[in-house]
Amino acid sequence: MSLNPISAFTDVPLPEEALTRFFAEWQLEPQRELVALDSALGRCLFEDVRAPGDLPAFVRSTVDGYAVRAVDVAGASRAAPIVLRVIGEVPMGQEPQVAVLPGTAVKIHTGAMLPPGADGVIMVEWTSLRDDHHVIVTQRVASGGNSIARGEDVVAGQLLLTKGRRLRPDDIGGLAAIGLAQVPVARRPLVALISSGDELVPAYREPGPAEVRDINGALLAALVQEAGCIPWHLGISRDDPVQFRQLVHTALASADAVIVSGGSSVGTRDLTRAILEELPDSRIVVHGVAVRPGKPTLLAYVGKHPFFGLPGNPVSAFATFRLFVRPALGRFLGSMEEQRFTVRARLKRPIPPSDGREDYVQVRVFEDIGEIVAEPVLGKSNLIFTVVRANGVVRMPATVKGIPEGQMVDVWPY
Ligand code: AMP
Ligand code: MG
Repeated sequence: MSLNPISAFTDVPLPEEALTRFFAEWQLEPQRELVALDSALGRCLFEDVRAPGDLPAFVRSTVDGYAVRAVDVAGASRAAPIVLRVIGEVPMGQEPQVAVLPGTAVKIHTGAMLPPGADGVIMVEWTSLRDDHHVIVTQRVASGGNSIARGEDVVAGQLLLTKGRRLRPDDIGGLAAIGLAQVPVARRPLVALISSGDELVPAYREPGPAEVRDINGALLAALVQEAGCIPWHLGISRDDPVQFRQLVHTALASADAVIVSGGSSVGTRDLTRAILEELPDSRIVVHGVAVRPGKPTLLAYVGKHPFFGLPGNPVSAFATFRLFVRPALGRFLGSMEEQRFTVRARLKRPIPPSDGREDYVQVRVFEDIGEIVAEPVLGKSNLIFTVVRANGVVRMPATVKGIPEGQMVDVWPY
C-alpha cells in the first residue's frame, strides 16, 4: 500500500487544548479486579473503602501497668500513695476474666483489653508492690487515661480511602487493620511500546559507527511502569512501512494503548501518521502541539484504544509522556492524580523566550546559602543526561517572553 506523507503541521494547539480535544473522545472506563493485599501497593482503588467496624474494636491499654477505676486513685501521689488489691491479670489477646471493683486493680499490658469496671491505667513506673496481692499507686490517672477508646482510630462506616487512590504502604497497613484481604483495584492496562528508526539498536547491543542505542524503549517502559501500568516493548521497527505496520498490528491486537516513539513528525521518513491513517478505525485527534520540547506529538485513537506518537528525541519523549500519556494512562486506572506539589525557587539563570510554544525547562533545584534555587539545565532534546542531571521542570507559558534571572518560579519536582 502506498503512503501519503504530509509535509507540514497545520493545526498546532497548546498542550492543554490538545489534551482537552483528546479526552473529549476518550471512551474507556477502568475495569475492576481483586488483588491480594500484599500485591496492592501502588495500585489504584476501584471503589471507596469504608470502615466495616470501629477501630480499635475494644478499649485498649497504651501502657504496661494496672487497670483501675480513676476515682479510686484520684488523690494518689508520692506523698499520699494509695494501696489497691490486685485481683488478677489480663492476658494478651484474651478477654479479661475479672472486673475491677472499688479498691482493686488488674495487671495489664500494652494493647490488652481493659477489664470491665476499669476506666484508666496506671503506668507500672508509678507503682510498687507492697506484697503479692497489693500494689502501691503514687500517681492519679484521668478517666480514659493511658488507654485508646473504641473507635478512636476510625468509626464504623467512616470513609477511609477514596476511589482512585494510589495505594501507599501506610494504606496497605490500614487495609490490613480493617481486614480487607482482597482489594478492589483498577486493572493495569497493557501498554505496547515501539521504538522506530533505522539508526537504532537494542540497548544491549554495541552500536555501529552511526547507530545509537534504543533509549526510549527502556525510558518509556519505566515511565509506563511508574504510572502503574504494564509496559510491553515490542522492539525496534526500522523506518520501513512493512515492518512498522506489522509491529503496529501486533501491538493493537493485544494492548490497551500503544506508544510509538520516533517517526511522529512530518518528514518523508516519519511513518507513524501514514501507518495510522491506513487503519480503518483510526482517528488522529492532534498532530503537532505548541510545546517545547515535543512539537511533533501525535494523539490518536484506533477504535477505542489510545495511540500516541511521541517524538524520538529522548528528552521530548520523556516530556511528552509526562504531559500527555501519563494523564491518559491515569484514565485507565481512574486515578485521582493528586495535586502535585511545586517547589518555589529563585531562578539562577535566565530562561530565554520561546517561539510561541509552551516551554518545559529542565532545572536542577538545590539549596544555596539558605535559599532554594533553580538552575536551568540547558541542552538539546536528544541528550538524555540533561534529564538525569535535572530534578524538576519549570513551565513557561507561551505568552511569557522569557524569565529573568532572580525571579521566583514554580518547579514541578521529578
Ligand atoms: P525522530 O523523531 O524519528 O525524527 O527522531 C528524532 C531523534 O531522536 C533522532 O536523532 C533519533 O535518532 C532519536 N531517536 C529516535 N528514537 C530513539 C530511541 N528510541 N532512542 C534514542 N534515540 C532515538
Ligand atoms: Mg526517526
